[in-house]
Amino acid sequence: MAPLRIGVLALQGDVSEHTDMVNLALKRMGLEGEAIKIKKKEQIDEIHGLIIPGGESTTMGRVSELYGLIKSIKDAALAGMPMLGTCAGLILMAKKVQDAKMGETKQPTLGLLEVEVVRNAFGRQRESFETNVKIPKIGKKPFPGVFIRAPIIGSILSNDVEVLAHHDDKIVTVQQDGLIGIAFHPELADDTRLHELFIELILKSTFKNRFSKEDA
Ligand code: GLN
Repeated sequence: MAPLRIGVLALQGDVSEHTDMVNLALKRMGLEGEAIKIKKKEQIDEIHGLIIPGGESTTMGRVSELYGLIKSIKDAALAGMPMLGTCAGLILMAKKVQDAKMGETKQPTLGLLEVEVVRNAFGRQRESFETNVKIPKIGKKPFPGVFIRAPIIGSILSNDVEVLAHHDDKIVTVQQDGLIGIAFHPELADDTRLHELFIELILKSTFKNRFSKEDA
């Protein structure tokens, strides 16, 4: 297997926090590979998986559309490329988006994750907070969830979507085959387990063999 190349969409937002976490997670897992900052659509052909970071989903969506990235990311995901979206990244991956105050937003999204996301769902008083999130799939120890103007997953639109975590009674982490959506910021926590879960998904996917012919 070729060394893993994990892309982080680098138009805006928490980019280097994610590349640092990916590199640390790879090291902890004893895997060869690296995180790569993705700015151009051609680079989507060079990676085994993609992370979309937190930031501002409307800006990220518009810029991605402008650079032709929406289409190439979508094509790659439909061909099986695993993806992880955190906060604004989750919004960008969703099929439907509502704003908690303004209702339906007409912002461009990838429409890959069969969920409806509600932006800014915690309101002004709780714009940002840190709380322990229970995620049985990654172990008993709760995950330190950093929520910043965070969305929630308001509804699930398909049986293919598995709920991985709640906060209070709100859904904050989901998985749909190779796609993971997280409402908070795992890249800001001192815990690589969610990045490791994503890397495991890549290892299980056929996408990990994407370049094996050329490498053989
Ligand atoms: N509220 C932001 C948005 O809708 C997301 C915030 C974040 O990524 N921290 O894009």
